[in-house]
Amino acid sequence: MALKQRHKPSLAKLTTLGLGGTAEVELTVRKPEDLEELAKVLMNGQLRPFMLGRGSNLLCPDGHHDLALVRVASPAAPDRVEEKNGRLIFRAGAGMSLPGVLGWAQKAGLSGLENLAGIPGSVGGAIAMNAGSYGTEIKDVTTRVRLWTPAQGLFWKGASECHWGYRHFDPDITLGKFMIWEVEMALEETSSDAVKKAMKATYDKKRETQPVTARSAGCIFKNPEGHSAGLLLDKAGFRGKDLGGVGFSELHANFLVNHGNGTSAQAVELIRQAQEAVRDQFDVNLETEVIFL
Ligand SMILES: Cc1cc2nc3c(=O)[nH]c(=O)nc-3n(C[C@H](O)[C@H](O)[C@H](O)COP(=O)(O)OP(=O)(O)OC[C@H]3O[C@@H](n4cnc5c(N)ncnc54)[C@H](O)[C@@H]3O)c2cc1C
Repeated sequence: MALKQRHKPSLAKLTTLGLGGTAEVELTVRKPEDLEELAKVLMNGQLRPFMLGRGSNLLCPDGHHDLALVRVASPAAPDRVEEKNGRLIFRAGAGMSLPGVLGWAQKAGLSGLENLAGIPGSVGGAIAMNAGSYGTEIKDVTTRVRLWTPAQGLFWKGASECHWGYRHFDPDITLGKFMIWEVEMALEETSSDAVKKAMKATYDKKRETQPVTARSAGCIFKNPEGHSAGLLLDKAGFRGKDLGGVGFSELHANFLVNHGNGTSAQAVELIRQAQEAVRDQFDVNLETEVIFL
């Protein structure tokens, strides 16, 4: 069997937050030929499929779940496609790490991704979340996305044909669940030193204000229109507030951290309490940015 299968994988081990029980199976697709077999497994309908990147934006439930986690294993470096008007167009597999793409871009002297330094996860996850920071979103450098569905197989979709929003990507297909297979991006050709300096500046800024090495899933809540979620949580008394083994970070109130012995139930309850407090005190609804699996 070409499709790699691993039974009863630990959700905690597959996510940066490190919470959650087990799924039924993890299926890793390594090449396009594996997709036919994946379609058969998914179409028999016994398990709920979930497209998993590197688990850096997920809150997984405790206990065992009838889930088939689907992952893409991609080559470790992007493919150059063409140089045009001072820009390089390249393709990166969905399973490649986003920091890996940034490292490659830095060495190649390609500019456009500098503000995303410090965002963990995969290329596929970055597209699915339209990941961004400091005014840049992944959509800004994306030209095309190659998608897969069991019914349609692989097909390209132009970035301008997709709907993008704040931590939102919708390729506008009516066929239900899709997998991001690879992504085409365009970056400006400049010098490696300039890109390195800018990426370092971004990362240094984040290190000062975010718990970048703690077990977290990044920001738990989206910033509501006209507000900073972190500031609202801070004012509501949630900076540094713990419940069991989880708590909001002292450094950045919008980061929920697993201190090592937390449970998903505790995280969900603390999130609920924070939403309630912010609603009661400021009449603002905090919408979660993290995906509840
Ligand atoms: C310390 C830290 C800092 C962070 N900082 C930022 C930040 O500054 N800005 C920001 O935007 N985010 C940030 N994040 C959140 C997270 O890193 C991003 O959302 C990231 O892009 C998620 O990628 P992933 O591969 O880990 O996706 P996962 O967490 O595995 O999945 C996230 C979503 O993407 C979907 N998905 C993943 N891969 C695919 C695929 N191949 N096909 C279809 N769907 C797929 C999943 O189904 C899920 O809905 C941070 C997280 C941490 C831990």
